[in-house]
Amino acid sequence: MKEEERAVVVKKLVIVIPAYNEEEVFPETVKEITEILEGMISSNKVSADSKILFVNDGSKDNTWNLIINEQKNNELVTGINFSRNFGHQNALVAGLVTASKDADMMITIDADLQDDVNAIEKMVDQYYAGFDVVYGVRDNRDTDTAFKRSTALTFYGIMKKLGVDMVPNHADYRLMSQRAVLEFLKFKEENLFIRGIVPLVGFPSTKVYYARKERFAGESKYPLKKMLKFAWDGISSFSVVPIRAIMTLGVAVVIVAVGILVYAVLEHARGNTAQGWSSLMISLWFLGGVQLIGISVIGEYIGKIFNEVKHRPRFTIQDDTYTKVDK
Ligand code: UDP
Ligand code: MG
Repeated sequence: MKEEERAVVVKKLVIVIPAYNEEEVFPETVKEITEILEGMISSNKVSADSKILFVNDGSKDNTWNLIINEQKNNELVTGINFSRNFGHQNALVAGLVTASKDADMMITIDADLQDDVNAIEKMVDQYYAGFDVVYGVRDNRDTDTAFKRSTALTFYGIMKKLGVDMVPNHADYRLMSQRAVLEFLKFKEENLFIRGIVPLVGFPSTKVYYARKERFAGESKYPLKKMLKFAWDGISSFSVVPIRAIMTLGVAVVIVAVGILVYAVLEHARGNTAQGWSSLMISLWFLGGVQLIGISVIGEYIGKIFNEVKHRPRFTIQDDTYTKVDK
């Protein structure tokens, strides 16, 4: 292809990076991503107006100031600043909403350099090869603790059983074409589980494999409690099968009922029980347990319906240097 022809087809890339209290890692992240993007711009792989878009998710540290300062000398960097912490998934959506106004392709990547930045170029190659979605897939879990590995495996297993078409070992490191993002943004559900929704969008998709590293600096913003909530959101937003899990939980309650039975028999042998006490206690505990669990699971779904009907805004943007720069 001739030089000018190529210049016409070169597309705009925006790299969306959610950041929550990432001041320790920010300087290195911005340096590495800038190098990659500069390289792709100078080799004419992406257009010269391609950008890096940081979404500061209500960081309590200096992250936003670092972004602002970086912009003074780095014209590739833009930023969105949330008024408070809205969470990783909403930060990603905000970045995609903003960038999809004019970007041809968007890549979402974590701020902590766990995802190999060298996969960015490979993803862009796949975009030009005609794919709308390119999933970054980790080819090992060596850097994870055995605990995280096994919980992740269980989680993917459950999701698969529930019939959710998820890409295993893929988090939120992916490229999406503009049309894929615009379609994705039509999913208005409040309980947002992006990696479950993206495959529902359809369009041609492929995978790029990479080795996931240790976090470059700082701590994980997904402690166990948040991780479990995230997994549960994923499961309960996509399937009603957990209601059937009452049966399994019912079995657990039956085991408790058996414990009560043993206790009741012992008490009976000691002559401490009145006629009918044992059967009464066992059925009372058994039915009570089953009913309580049933009510709580149904309550979870009612809670979700409650959230959906509210249609609250997903985020409130306080500053937006991305849009200003382009005006
Ligand atoms: N993050 C965010 N808002 C949050 C929590 C995390 O924007 O409330 C960002 C965080 O800055 C990082 C990405 O989401 O860029 C993934 O978080 P982290 O690396 O802490 O998760 P882990 O890799 O440990 O699962
Ligand atoms: Mg991380």
